Formats: sequence, C-alpha cells, structure tokens
Amino acid sequence: LEPKEEFEHKSLAVDVMRPRRADPALAVLTQEGMTVEEALVASTRYSGFPVVVSQESQRLVGFVLRRDLLISIDNARQRQEGVVSSSQVLFTEHPPAQAADAPPPVRLRSLLDLSPFTVADHTPMDITVDIFRKLGLRQCLVTHNGRLLGIITKKDILKHMAQMANRDPDSILFN
Ligand code: ADP
Repeated sequence: LEPKEEFEHKSLAVDVMRPRRADPALAVLTQEGMTVEEALVASTRYSGFPVVVSQESQRLVGFVLRRDLLISIDNARQRQEGVVSSSQVLFTEHPPAQAADAPPPVRLRSLLDLSPFTVADHTPMDITVDIFRKLGLRQCLVTHNGRLLGIITKKDILKHMAQMANRDPDSILFN
C-alpha cells in the first residue's frame, strides 16, 4: 500500500471484509475435531485460515498460512509413524483424550500466529488502512463482540480503494 494515498471516505471494516453477504461462510479450521482429510479439504482456495475454538463459538485461537499447513501435514505423513487421512489435526496446547485405537494426531500448534491482527467490524477503514501500512500486514481479521466475522486482505483493500476512486474520484487524494 502506497503510504501517500489518503483514504478519506467513510467505509467501515465490515464493508470491505469477506465473505460478503451472499458468499459462502468464512473458511475456518477448528482447533480440534478435524481430520487430516477434512483440514485439507477445508483449506483449499485461500492463502490463510483463522483457527477457532469451535464452529459454534467462532472464537479465535490463531491464524495459519495454507502453505505452512500443507508442508507440515505432508511432513507428518512421511515422517510420523501411523499418520493417516483420519488422524486428527490438533491446534490445542494439550492433546484431548483419544480412543486407544485412534491413529496418532498431527499436532500443529507451532504453526499458529497466536495473535493475528483483528479489528472490530465498525472500525473505520482509514484507521484499518493505517494499521496495514504501519504494521506491514497482509491480512487482518474482523470480529464483532469477540466473534470472528471475516477477513480483509491487502488485495481487498486495494480493490476497495480502486472501486471508491471510480465511484467518487475525490474521495481518495493522491498527493
Ligand atoms: P488475496 O486477497 O491476496 O488474493 P487470498 O487468496 O487469501 O489472498 O484471498 C482471496 C479472497 O478470499 C480475498 O477476497 C479474501 O478476503 C478472501 N479470503 C481469504 N481468506 C479467506 C477465508 N479463510 N475464508 C473466506 N474468504 C477468505
């Protein structure tokens, strides 16, 4: 993001985040209860995934990059005895009790960014853009009362800026 572009219109984080209302839900992974196979299916498409306590709670645990996830699962399958598609993927600190005959889990907590940047849904976009610039963020999560709602990537911001410039060229000052 160019530091000199001012972002002066009144959009909020909730206006820029994905998913949009008509889109499929945000793709998340749960910290426990998913198998290797389910995690691989859930993590196609995007470059990163919020990890949540559970689908019901949508409480954020951390953020994992798709690249790291794929490499680590691949490594575990090759190097860790007994890991199969039905092995559990765990992002928890302590492994939950498993049936004695269950395949060994793949433990991936070390991949997590445990404090991914988040903004509340009604944060003005000018503030959000400022944070992106100052912290060099690639993405930021959006929450409402601590519940995960969506994600904003750097590209989403650039697209939104371009749209706003088309609609109302005076709303963005290029100096
Ligand atoms: P980029 O925006 O750089 O192409 P991604 O491939 O991660 O990065 O994201 C593509 C689009 O999908 C963006 O609009 C982004 O907001 C959205 N997106 C990113 N991650 C997720 C996710 N986990 N669930 C749903 N949408 C996502």
